[in-house]
Amino acid sequence: MPLDFLKRRTAGDSSAQPADTAPAAKLPAMITLPEEVVAQEYQLKLYYAGKTSEGVRMKAGPRAMSELPSMLHGLARTEIEVVDPLPIEFSQATPVIARPSEAMQWLNAHHVHSPVTRHALVVLESIDAVDLAFDTFVCTLLDGEVDTSGYPDYSAIVGGVASHWDEATGDMIVRAVVGWGGKGVRGDTDRIAAKLLAGILTNILANQYALGLTAIERPVPAAGRGGLVCAHCGFASAHERAFYCPKCGMRLLRG
Ligand SMILES: [Zn+2]
Repeated sequence: MPLDFLKRRTAGDSSAQPADTAPAAKLPAMITLPEEVVAQEYQLKLYYAGKTSEGVRMKAGPRAMSELPSMLHGLARTEIEVVDPLPIEFSQATPVIARPSEAMQWLNAHHVHSPVTRHALVVLESIDAVDLAFDTFVCTLLDGEVDTSGYPDYSAIVGGVASHWDEATGDMIVRAVVGWGGKGVRGDTDRIAAKLLAGILTNILANQYALGLTAIERPVPAAGRGGLVCAHCGFASAHERAFYCPKCGMRLLRG
């Protein structure tokens, strides 16, 4: 009972605050701590998920790179986009808006891409399934719907193939990558994603340059200043231990 009285009293007072010229002695007596705080609850649950396949070793060479988009033929439901590894000036790029400097780098690097690709990068970078310090990512919509602005909904599946250069041999390693998520989750998305992953892996293995499945040892991006400049394509890598240029795959020369 005393709680109800307090609630009504404070609610009524707050609207009339500026004009409240009641005797000062009256107020302190009325303000008492409630026994229990009545809280309004707010919540947002974001759900991001993804899958990657084993790697497929490809015969290296400049032509292998241009084969990547063809591995999504028959599966792509929108335009196929190629996202190159990021050069060193974007080494801090992160899709987190509360970190303005990282977010600006991310937007500067990716504003040119389609809504499908940007959504895919937010999901797959957030869960660490792709790393543009060394991955080349080839992306499309694989299942589900986009809204009127072209952005995939939470149950849409996006992805494609990601490739990097094996630091030991210089071969190109390609893996299938799919992701989905947002404000919600649907029961059958995981199963559809697994089927799509298998479909993409089949396409990779069917490619004329494929040499077979291989264990993936992803390069470890260094936290330091990074930076070797490729003598072949001019790419300044953020990945200081790279043996091969993340962009063109040629051997980096060390000074
Ligand atoms: Zn290069």
